[in-house]
Amino acid sequence: MKVLVIVAHPDDEVLGCGATAARLVMEGQEVHFAILGEGLTARDFNWAAPETDQLAALHRQAHAAAAKVGVKHVVLNQLPDNRLDTVPLLDVVKIVEELVERLKPDIIYTHHAGDLNVDHGVIHRAVLTATRPMSGQVVREIYAFEVPSSTEWAFQRLEPAFRPNVFVDVTRTLEAKIAAMECYESEARKFPHPRSPEALRAIAMRWGSVVGCGAAEAFELVRSIRPRLD
Ligand SMILES: [Zn+2]
Repeated sequence: MKVLVIVAHPDDEVLGCGATAARLVMEGQEVHFAILGEGLTARDFNWAAPETDQLAALHRQAHAAAAKVGVKHVVLNQLPDNRLDTVPLLDVVKIVEELVERLKPDIIYTHHAGDLNVDHGVIHRAVLTATRPMSGQVVREIYAFEVPSSTEWAFQRLEPAFRPNVFVDVTRTLEAKIAAMECYESEARKFPHPRSPEALRAIAMRWGSVVGCGAAEAFELVRSIRPRLD
């Protein structure tokens, strides 16, 4: 099985499914991270192009974070941060199509459509468009994850609400996710921020308690297609 994680910003891949990715790698699956946005520009008021050394540092952090969860394949793109809604959707779709064509993933994990962050919604839509289930489509399953400080901060005012129905026991790999998040020095936040280590553990324990295990990551199944029996 080949798994592709498609996200808007560096750290979304860890926040959304870092512990599940670590578990998939432990299970022998091939996992790829694709980070489509550059993750820097929106912090500048003038929206100037980010400094190349800042970008290089963020890319190093992304590779270090992936290594913590055992993921060897990282694709970094440079779409504009927090302004993906100003990029023609077709351009984003083309990037996703190229990834799917090249990597041929069986399973995709990506953003939930109703997040507060506009980029997350754009990526979700681009993934759905790029993986339309026409004959020959290799992608069999698509899952949407939550990103702490974006999914819950929409307060279910943005449609659709996140309604997880797939849960992965990540008791063994939760700490790898926390360690991966710590690689993103510029993204680190202190408790009670939802992206702090304490909050990430609490969120995993909360989902774990919902489904009877110590810690879990929660997903919403977007689509699952069982291919023809040969
Ligand atoms: Zn994000």
